[in-house]
Amino acid sequence: MTEDEFRPTNFIRQIVEKDLRLDQHTLVHTRFPPEPNGYLHIGHAKAICLNFGIAKDYQGQCNLRFDDTNPLQENIEFVESIKRDVEWLRVGWNGKICYASDYFNKLYQYAVELISKGLAYVDELSSEQIREYRGSLMLPGKDSPYRNRSVQENLLLFENMRNGHFNEGNACLRAKINMASPFMVMRDPVLYRIKFAQHYRTGHKWCIYPMYDFTHCISDALEGITHSFCTLEFQDNRRLYDWVLDNITIACHPRQYEFSRLNLEYTVMSKRKLNQLVKEKYVEGWDDPRMPTLSGLRRRGYTADSIREFCKRIGVTKQENYIEMTALESCIREDLSKNAPHAMAVIEPVRVIIENIDIGEEMLLTLPNHPNKPEMGNRKVLFSRDIYIDRADFREKAKKQYKRLVLGKEVRLRHAYVIKATRIKKDSLGRIIIIFCSYEAATLSRNPLDGRKVPGVIHWVSAAHALPAEIRLYDHLFNVPNPTAERDFITTMNSSSLVIKHGFVEPSLVEAKPEQAYQFEREGYFCSDSLYSSVDHLVFNRTVTLRNTWSKSGVKTSLK
Ligand code: ATP
Ligand code: MG
Repeated sequence: MTEDEFRPTNFIRQIVEKDLRLDQHTLVHTRFPPEPNGYLHIGHAKAICLNFGIAKDYQGQCNLRFDDTNPLQENIEFVESIKRDVEWLRVGWNGKICYASDYFNKLYQYAVELISKGLAYVDELSSEQIREYRGSLMLPGKDSPYRNRSVQENLLLFENMRNGHFNEGNACLRAKINMASPFMVMRDPVLYRIKFAQHYRTGHKWCIYPMYDFTHCISDALEGITHSFCTLEFQDNRRLYDWVLDNITIACHPRQYEFSRLNLEYTVMSKRKLNQLVKEKYVEGWDDPRMPTLSGLRRRGYTADSIREFCKRIGVTKQENYIEMTALESCIREDLSKNAPHAMAVIEPVRVIIENIDIGEEMLLTLPNHPNKPEMGNRKVLFSRDIYIDRADFREKAKKQYKRLVLGKEVRLRHAYVIKATRIKKDSLGRIIIIFCSYEAATLSRNPLDGRKVPGVIHWVSAAHALPAEIRLYDHLFNVPNPTAERDFITTMNSSSLVIKHGFVEPSLVEAKPEQAYQFEREGYFCSDSLYSSVDHLVFNRTVTLRNTWSKSGVKTSLK
């Protein structure tokens, strides 16, 4: 089955299909409405794939809309990063952008309409008083003493709010609904508040800003959205969504449906928490390869295909749950095992001298770029007397199960010859610094002529030709599956989430393009770091290990 033939089905798609079948709508129109107050994360990818996926599969439209009504938190850097990430995901975005801030005039007019109908009033209680008067789930709220002002007075006061005649916090506009409603959101919610702040798009034009619940439904209706999908925490807000649209003069009334948000183990997804990690420098930035942001995942080596595949696999339901990190890792591993060219890199190098090769002699070997895909071509790699192998691939003594190089025994060098370790040299601390070997010339990519079996294979690079490289090994950012459940999530951070090694890579990797993935033979999937890597200083990020190194219980199992 090709990707296009496989169409996920879920309760949301069933609603859309039914509406189209019953001619409720001729065209489906969705939207993805991020607030530009941070970078997009993998949870947003779920919402993007849902909204843009539906538009694509049912020949409809999906708007990218910036929900930008919070001037203090929002800026153009976030807008640009969101555009970049949505584009990168290749979900069929047509490049058009909508902004809630483009609707500020209209939103103001709708607020005036509600006031004129006696459905909104200017309240002068302080925010603490408003909270106090709101009551609780057990207790009904109390009416504000300002609730029964006349329409005329409210119109004048709202205009005064707009003209800057009130200080911040001294007045706000509230819907007049029901202070005893069992739904807290319906207890006269605030529609507008005063903020003397510069907005990244409208500058100082406004000193009052509409709240999310008021803005969101009207923006949806103005854009002709048919289905407005959001996460479950907005379930109760649906009543307010409908109340606003029922009480203003607007032709369109989109329907809101809720689905469960994506929670991923061993990371956090709230923008506030991600922002804290960046601001307090627990990570190097929003695009730190350990972050669950799309820019972090991209820098780490995740492909857009693997993220879309992940979103397809997790599906869309109303069930709150945690997805294991291994589910995301499997998606990138499957993609890269098919598509990433192979290369050799030694991460923890130890020197090997093959004494029966002459000093200065070079042998040019032809290595396949992918063992199962001849169409990916070959590359030339030099082999010589001096090579590096990984320290973990040699032991002085070992049990039979150890299929690597042991003193006095043989091993095959990947795509090259069989070598035998003859003696070793140690430094004064007893650490091995050179392994002396001999090689057998007749074993290039074939078994020894006398039929001897050499089962182990290890990787290598030629010391004279290999290039030094900084290799960054990443692990979970947190030590516990659900850091948010802790009192202070920061205390659960994994202090070894980044380990930097200094190894060697084969020379062809000098041409590695940023974010281009490779399978480093026997080591894992790696990509060149888009920020730090240069021709003079190669830096590679480990995207993911070759196999899952985490058991079900969350205990790390040894790789080798
Ligand atoms: P946060 O709670 O982290 O601040 P948010 O929901 O406020 O996130 P927005 O920028 O408003 O962030 O989100 C844009 C859209 O993405 C919303 O429709 C929201 O429901 C959806 N979304 C955000 N986080 C997730 C998630 N973890 N899983 C699925 N959808 C999400
Ligand atoms: Mg939000």
